[in-house]
Amino acid sequence: MIVVMDHHAGDGEIEHVLERLKKIGFKTHLSQGIERTIIGAVGDRNILCDVNLESMPGVEKVVPILQPYKLASRTFQEENTIIKVGDLEIGGDTLHVMAGPCAVESREQLIQAARSVRDAGGAILRGGAFKPRTSPYSFQGLAEEGLKFLAEAREETGLLIVTEVMDVRDVSMVAHYADILQIGARNMQNYYLLREVAGIDKPVVLKRGPSCTIEEWLMAAEYIMSGGNYNVILCERGIRSFENYTRNTLDLTAVPVVKHLSHLPVIVDPSHAIGKWRFVPPMARAAIAAGADGLIVEMHPHPEEALCDGQQSLTPRGFKLMMDDLKKIADFMGRKMP
Ligand code: PEP
Ligand code: MN
Repeated sequence: MIVVMDHHAGDGEIEHVLERLKKIGFKTHLSQGIERTIIGAVGDRNILCDVNLESMPGVEKVVPILQPYKLASRTFQEENTIIKVGDLEIGGDTLHVMAGPCAVESREQLIQAARSVRDAGGAILRGGAFKPRTSPYSFQGLAEEGLKFLAEAREETGLLIVTEVMDVRDVSMVAHYADILQIGARNMQNYYLLREVAGIDKPVVLKRGPSCTIEEWLMAAEYIMSGGNYNVILCERGIRSFENYTRNTLDLTAVPVVKHLSHLPVIVDPSHAIGKWRFVPPMARAAIAAGADGLIVEMHPHPEEALCDGQQSLTPRGFKLMMDDLKKIADFMGRKMP
């Protein structure tokens, strides 16, 4: 539930309500807006029967949150969450595109990719140092060496870095190098991992599991938020369906639906959704038209030589053309692109 405090509620009154909630076993999350203060309270609602919160001084009203996710819901926070990372804001007026190779393969490959991302107007470099591959015989990533290359690429180009963390044991190391951590689709319901990234002070891109419902996805976000990290960026990356011409089925309905249910920013990964580079630009355009707050796209300096996901990677030129087209859609949607 949320406790909406009165306009004129003083610090003492807010403190008093917080203490009362904690005393009866509720976890509290304070959100002090310009207009008013809201207290998110998560716990057993039955206990509340005996505690008449609405009669406490400074309380305007108490609103139950009916969804199983609380902190991620629009009921808890009406206005969009805007996540600040470096000089960027994700979820605001400006759309940011994260782009780069599926996997970090070498210093040269990554620097080349980073320059192409920057030159085309991308703001964030993607690249996996830990790769969740279906086959144990496929390239698994360069691990810490890859993270070091990402940090070098940031130095060289000024781009921010987003990269996947797959294992609880690697979270602090990945957080040391990266600006944004990515939880991959396969790990969306790895609750230990979600709890671990809840404890860091870096934003998290949370990809939707290929077989997960929107509610399960928002519950995964709730794990991260209830552990103290409110900076969650949701990423639709395609779900499993009977269709097998494309790698997955891009569920673009998820964009307006999630933006209705939640205040968190939503981005789209057309590359993993479709799996074929040719169809990435049109679906990227559709994602922006559907209201996405940004994109994450695979781009490789030489897709034919890629160690991972070359078939869905744009060339630097293809990426630049896509970015130029996206500006027109963004403009139509009243959004900016850097
Ligand atoms: C990736 O971004 O490289 C990746 C593995 O994505 P997903 O987790 O969506 O499959
Ligand atoms: Mn990939």
